[in-house]
Amino acid sequence: MRIVLLGAPGSGKGTQTDSIIERYGVSTVATGDLLRAEVAAGTDLGQRAKPYMDAGNLVPFDIVLGMIENAVRKLAQSNPKGFMMDGFPRDLPQAEALDKLLDKLGQPLDAVLFIDVDYEEIVKRLLGRGRADDNEDTIRNRLRVFEEKTAPLIDFYTKKGLLHTIKGTGTVEDIGQRIRAALDKIA
Ligand code: ADP
Repeated sequence: MRIVLLGAPGSGKGTQTDSIIERYGVSTVATGDLLRAEVAAGTDLGQRAKPYMDAGNLVPFDIVLGMIENAVRKLAQSNPKGFMMDGFPRDLPQAEALDKLLDKLGQPLDAVLFIDVDYEEIVKRLLGRGRADDNEDTIRNRLRVFEEKTAPLIDFYTKKGLLHTIKGTGTVEDIGQRIRAALDKIA
């Protein structure tokens, strides 16, 4: 099973990841985690990415492309049960690049889960979380970036017949239940 997890920052993607991995045996990668590791290790990539991350903007594609391509190749080749991507693709050029890469690998996506949560709820959640980029200005900017760059992917994947919208409010268990209902049909 090959899936993309799509949702605004704070929509709860990370919270659902473990149970998806456990149930379906997929491997996962979160590009935000990869980037934070590069920053922490002080690599050249991390140093170039950091100012964009601190401001809540997307790191330009030419900076992240190599890192993401490597991660996707590794994912696609290492686990026959499949993979789940969190935080990528983030805009249309990334989605098109992913399509091409997965075509080349002969491993097209099976589904895209869009976790749908309204913005007021998200701001509340993120302000309570306290990561370095979780102050109110950055949060608002990340939501703007989501709306502008990432939300068009909803339409992109709907047209491909891949999109499943999951209502992202309620308890963690409620949401997990909805995700299982969608993925059990595919697995
Ligand atoms: P959130 O979903 O809470 O915004 P992430 O961990 O997914 O958090 O991302 C944190 C930051 O890392 C983003 O604001 C952005 O700067 C950068 N980032 C993550 N994934 C990508 C990507 N695919 N392309 C460009 N930048 C990215």
